[in-house]
Amino acid sequence: MSKRHRFLPDLHPEEIAARQLAGLKWTVAHAAKGSPFYRKRLKEAGVDPAGIASLDDLRRLPFTTAHDLQDGYPLPLLSVPEKDVVRIHASSGTTGKRKVLSYTQADIDTWKNMFARCYELAGLTTLDRVQVCVGYGLWTAGAGFQLGSEHFGALTVPVGPGMMEIQLQMLVDLQTTCLCSTASMALLLGEEVERQGLKDKIALKRCIFGAESHTPKMRRQFEQALGLEASFDIAGMTELYGPGTGLECEARTGIHYWADLFIVEILNPATLEPVEPGQVGEMVVTSLRKEAAPLIRYRTRDLTRLMPGACTCGYCMPRHDRIQGRSDDMFIFRGVNIYPGQIAAVLEKFKQLSSEYQICLRRQEGLDHMQVRLERRPDAEVESAALAKAVSDEIRRQILVRSEVEVLAPGALPRSFAKTKRVLDERDQD
Ligand SMILES: [Zn+2]
Repeated sequence: MSKRHRFLPDLHPEEIAARQLAGLKWTVAHAAKGSPFYRKRLKEAGVDPAGIASLDDLRRLPFTTAHDLQDGYPLPLLSVPEKDVVRIHASSGTTGKRKVLSYTQADIDTWKNMFARCYELAGLTTLDRVQVCVGYGLWTAGAGFQLGSEHFGALTVPVGPGMMEIQLQMLVDLQTTCLCSTASMALLLGEEVERQGLKDKIALKRCIFGAESHTPKMRRQFEQALGLEASFDIAGMTELYGPGTGLECEARTGIHYWADLFIVEILNPATLEPVEPGQVGEMVVTSLRKEAAPLIRYRTRDLTRLMPGACTCGYCMPRHDRIQGRSDDMFIFRGVNIYPGQIAAVLEKFKQLSSEYQICLRRQEGLDHMQVRLERRPDAEVESAALAKAVSDEIRRQILVRSEVEVLAPGALPRSFAKTKRVLDERDQD
């Protein structure tokens, strides 16, 4: 990337590391001074904030978890006087209380800068018109997309989610060029645009989408239906400002994240030790400039990996892969940590199989056995036994474990509208 950027910093790895160290020292000192919670935690871990001398000292710091956020409800991790807090956002807790995060004006400014970087990386200019079709209110999504778009200098159309007729009206009348939505919303809009024959009447070029998992197939579908030149997966979580902590570039080989504003560690969730470079583990983040609610080694439970080497797009910021699942779903089989998503990834390669699968774990004569149950697609022309052997070989090659694969008839596995239970672990019952 040779052209000059307005928002995207061009930093050498040494400069990034220098900013990380300065930010780490500041964050630990700031949290210890301003937050009774962090002060206690750091003391228990025997950490003297003044003793942070290198990035390796990060490993000595205690972890922060979603439980800590809930324990500190309604203003967890607060590290500034309340008079300095200008806003809160909240996300739904999976159980019980919401996670509420507070922001100072400087936090809002950091967030809007991060978000402006995203729009710039996606190739927008100040002549772009950005239609924001995500939730407003307590959620970070709408506020973040709008804040960033205005700071970037684009024309912002804050429609919010749903409201198909208004979305279509804005797409046609205002000729919006960039759609910000979930992948499902983009797909719905695409279908409606096709149904009403509006493709030639709209001017969309790009879509920035996030907040849920998507499949490459889904993505191709909405790109075609909306006549897009490109689409970009955006990263973010409420705990770390909100959406906008990173964006996929056109190379589509991972998400460039803002390593000058937060540190990403990828750890084995069972041992909390770093995984080998490029391996999947739990993403643990430490903020470097967050004032109101700083994060010190916050366990996100999200599974991803760091992408090795430099990106072909030439941009300096490091990349992490798409989020591949939650560490809570991990199981240990014969000493190997396995995530259901790894099995799903193997299945992607077999066109003769449906996307459904079930993993059954059993213990027989002291030894663990893994059975993987799959479904043939109705049009599959391969013999089930041959297919089972091919999948088993591929699992062995990729995940390095033996499995018994069973290929069932189409529709044989249980379906659920909510979260499908993929792993049946019967090992403790023996
Ligand atoms: Zn890139």
